[in-house]
Amino acid sequence: MIVGVPKESYPGELRVALVPIVVPHLAKAGLEVLVEAGAGRAAGYLDSQYTGHGAKIVPRREDVFAKADIIVQVLCYGSNDITGKDDVPLLRNGQALIGFLRPFGSAQVVQQIAATGVTAFSVELMPRTTRAQSMDALSSMATVCGYKAVLAAADRLPRLFPMLTTAAGTITPARVLIVGAGVAGLQAIATARRLGAVTSAYDVRPAAKEQVQSLGGRFVELPIEAKDAQDARGYARAQDESFYARQRELLGRVVAESDVVITAAVIPGKKSPVLVTEDMVRAMAPGSVILDIAAERGGNCELTEAGKIVERHGVTIIGLINLASTVPYHASQMYARNLTAFLLHLVKDGKLSVNLEDEIVRDTLVTRGGEVVNPRVRESFSMPALVPRG
Ligand code: NAD
Repeated sequence: MIVGVPKESYPGELRVALVPIVVPHLAKAGLEVLVEAGAGRAAGYLDSQYTGHGAKIVPRREDVFAKADIIVQVLCYGSNDITGKDDVPLLRNGQALIGFLRPFGSAQVVQQIAATGVTAFSVELMPRTTRAQSMDALSSMATVCGYKAVLAAADRLPRLFPMLTTAAGTITPARVLIVGAGVAGLQAIATARRLGAVTSAYDVRPAAKEQVQSLGGRFVELPIEAKDAQDARGYARAQDESFYARQRELLGRVVAESDVVITAAVIPGKKSPVLVTEDMVRAMAPGSVILDIAAERGGNCELTEAGKIVERHGVTIIGLINLASTVPYHASQMYARNLTAFLLHLVKDGKLSVNLEDEIVRDTLVTRGGEVVNPRVRESFSMPALVPRG
């Protein structure tokens, strides 16, 4: 079996799906790795390092697609909504495709992928279980994102983060508030603390309190309780608008007292709730910074512009998307390790084994045999359920 690694084509994307150090692990399982020339360069991995670890380099993208049995990408068509379409004619019946597919994004795109006959797995759908932890690319990328969010916010803040006692007087530490203590939020707390900021955090899920405190953050208690805050998979459930309105009201004071607000509150498959309004931004001190990790999914701040850094009412609002790609060396390394664990799970005796009894395979499989086969994806696009064959 040949695993093909095309160069990422989304504008500005610096990551690569596999890095040289994982190649020998795949080789042991009978998987040969074919890399498009220059695919790892932007992330700091040279062609010579790939060949040094046993991979083959091919000059043309088309050849990677033509020769590989399994194509691995970071942003496949779907999550790559700019240039991803160009890959569609290169995919073929029976070939496997693994990567970020944005499976709930567009029914038309998912159907186009299905129509190629490709067996596509979406890493976003990896179950959040202990068994699948080593394959959880969403968590890896969220970790990088949470870290970089704090650095990007610190870079824009006209203040220092740590408390300093110097001959020129004492500097008070920055106050950082993190809203949404999931994987990205928790890493943001840890990073802000390492930089010396006084860090607090809030989340609707009661379980988050202990995690925030274990990282040295102060948990902001609001006198409201979300109904069924957490679903069976550990994700936050969407709340009604009256809950969000009350939440904004209560969060207002904490936001106004913060120098930096990092918002990372998302609901899987849904538009992110607005938690910071224009009035709340107006009440912040000039020079304060909001970094909206949820920017790509509509944003948690009313004034966020996805992909942009804007200044409103004296506050810098950072809506940068794809933060993980700005730390491409380690983001690629983590992603490659996740993919390797997934590939080793999928390949049995040198063949791709699509065992639908296995939750990891069943949950991540999106298209097969020309059809969109994932029940959650079908349901989200109101497609009728598939009748099992035979
Ligand atoms: P996510 O990216 O879906 O959401 C980020 C955070 O935003 C969540 O903590 C959520 O509760 C919070 N949020 C949503 N609405 C909010 C609101 N109105 N106000 C404040 N906060 C709000 O989350 P994630 O990072 O993917 O993690 C989701 C859960 O999955 C967490 O419990 C995490 O610990 C768990 N998880 C488990 C595993 C595993 O067991 N292998 C792996 C990764 C994550």
